[in-house]
Amino acid sequence: MIKHTGGCYCKNITYSSEYDPMLVFNCHCLTCKKISGEAISTAVTFYESEVEFSGDMQIFEYKGGSGKSVYKHFCENCGCRLITKVDLIEGFIYIPIGTFDDWNSFKPKVELWNEFKSDWVGEFDCVSTIFEDNGTLDRIQICLENLDQRE
Ligand SMILES: [Zn+2]
Ligand SMILES: [Zn+2]
Repeated sequence: MIKHTGGCYCKNITYSSEYDPMLVFNCHCLTCKKISGEAISTAVTFYESEVEFSGDMQIFEYKGGSGKSVYKHFCENCGCRLITKVDLIEGFIYIPIGTFDDWNSFKPKVELWNEFKSDWVGEFDCVSTIFEDNGTLDRIQICLENLDQRE
């Protein structure tokens, strides 16, 4: 049964998943600020195999904070970004929350790169874990713990 659907602004790219995300997080890092153009980025984590995409996307590759490659997949027509993939954590994808049709179904539980949080961004009641950096290992742990609850 399909639980979540979404796509880009012009609808050339669509996606669907039968799963709930493993993790929803806010990222305050400087790269996300630039790539999104926004002060704060909220994204959800899935296994790559859990989301089915249709439509052709362009890929932009750059180096993340760890020195490993990060890949942004975006619609070549409207420029909307749909997937972030990182070599650092293979098999995971991140999808920006605003591209979901049911964008109000998810709440961030974790915040990354708190060090770069904009001064005017307040505290969120739904957030229970805050990392000053990217919290990679802890984040994988949280994802794996959540797997049990998804069956
Ligand atoms: Zn588009
Ligand atoms: Zn970031």
